[in-house]
Amino acid sequence: MDISQYKDVYVFVEQRDGAVQSVGLELLGKARQLADTLNEKVVAILLGKNIADKAQGLIAAGADRVLVVDDDRLKTYLTEPYAEAVSQIIREQSPSIFLLGATVIGRDLAPRVSARIGTGLTADCTQLEIGDKGELLMTRPAFGGNLMATILCKNHRPQMSTVRPGVMQKATADGSRKGEVVNYNIAFDDEKISRVRLVEEVKECKCVADISEAKLIVSGGRGAGTKDGFDKLRALAAEIGAEVGASRAMVDAGVIDHCAQVGQTGKTVRPELYLACGISGAIQHLAGMEESEYIVAINKDKFAPIFSVADLGIVGDMHKIVPLLTERIKSLRK
Ligand SMILES: Cc1cc2nc3c(=O)[nH]c(=O)nc-3n(C[C@H](O)[C@H](O)[C@H](O)COP(=O)(O)OP(=O)(O)OC[C@H]3O[C@@H](n4cnc5c(N)ncnc54)[C@H](O)[C@@H]3O)c2cc1C
Repeated sequence: MDISQYKDVYVFVEQRDGAVQSVGLELLGKARQLADTLNEKVVAILLGKNIADKAQGLIAAGADRVLVVDDDRLKTYLTEPYAEAVSQIIREQSPSIFLLGATVIGRDLAPRVSARIGTGLTADCTQLEIGDKGELLMTRPAFGGNLMATILCKNHRPQMSTVRPGVMQKATADGSRKGEVVNYNIAFDDEKISRVRLVEEVKECKCVADISEAKLIVSGGRGAGTKDGFDKLRALAAEIGAEVGASRAMVDAGVIDHCAQVGQTGKTVRPELYLACGISGAIQHLAGMEESEYIVAINKDKFAPIFSVADLGIVGDMHKIVPLLTERIKSLRK
C-alpha cells in the first residue's frame, strides 16, 4: 500500500432520529486540529434520510466538506447498509485518518469497516495527536486502565480510531465558516444488504437523560450503599437539576442501570459539576470523569484516591452530608 496517496481527516457523524449526536461534533473539533497540523481537510460523513439540512452545522463545527448520503435504506441504523455505504466512501475517497464515536453504533460499524478495507482500528482512544512523521498517535488505556498505550497504524490507511462521547471537546460553532456539501450516491447491492430487516424499534427508557450530555451530575458509589442511599442522591439531584450517575460497583449490584455508569466501561462525562458521593476513585472511574470542570467528593476515608482529582473534598458520611446539603439548598431558595 502506498500510504502517501491517502489524505484528509474523515469523521463519521452519527445521527439518531435525524438529530446529530454530540460525539460527531466533538470529533469534528479534534479532526480540525489534526487536519490543521497536517495541512489537510476535514470531511464529515453524514448518512440517513432527510438529513441534508444538518450539513451546515457540521461545517460550522469544523468540517470543510460534508458527504451526505440520503437514502431510505439509511433511515435507521442497520449494520449492513451503513457498513456498505461507509466502506464504499472510504475506498473511493482514500482518507488518511477516519474517526468514529465509540457509541453502540460506532462500535458496531468501525470494526466491520476496518475489516472490509483491510486496515487497523484502535478503539476507545482518549488522546489523538500527529507524530513527527505525520502519523496518527492513538492513545488509549490498556491493562484495565493501569497504563496508557500509544498505538500507530504504520502500513495501512486510513488510520482508524473510535473515541467515546465526552472525551474530545467540540470547537465553538462558527456560522461564518464556508464549506462544501456533496450529495454522495452509494451503489447498494440490495441482495447483500437485505439479510436483516428492521421490524420494529422499541426504545429502552430506563435512563431519562444521557448523562454524557449533563451539566451537573450527582454520582454515587458503594458508599451510598443501597437504593435508600441513591434516593438521597436523587433528592439532591432534583433540587439542583442534576442527573444521577454511579460507579460500576453500584451498577454491578443492580442498584442502578448501566446507562448511569461513569468510567472506562461506562460513560465519559465532562459536566460543569461532578459530585462524587461514596466513590473511592478507582482509575477506571476517574477515566470517565476527571475532565469535569469542578469536582466535589464526599468520602469518609480522607485517603480515598477520589480526593486527588477533587477541587473540593468533604471528609464525612454522605448519608448525613447529602440530606443536609439538599435541605440547605432548599432553604437558600426560599
Ligand atoms: C476493566 C475494568 C473496567 C472497569 N470499569 C469501571 C467503570 O467504568 N466505572 C467504575 O466506576 N468502575 C469501573 N471498574 C471498577 C473499579 O475498579 C472499582 O472497583 C469501582 O469503581 C469501585 O466503585 P466504588 O468507588 O463505588 O466502590 P469502592 O471502591 O468500594 O469505594 C467505596 C467508597 O465509599 C466510601 N464510603 C463508604 N461508606 C461511605 C459513607 N457512608 N460516606 C462516604 N463515603 C463512604 C469508602 O471510603 C470508599 O472510598 C472497572 C474495573 C475493571 C477491572
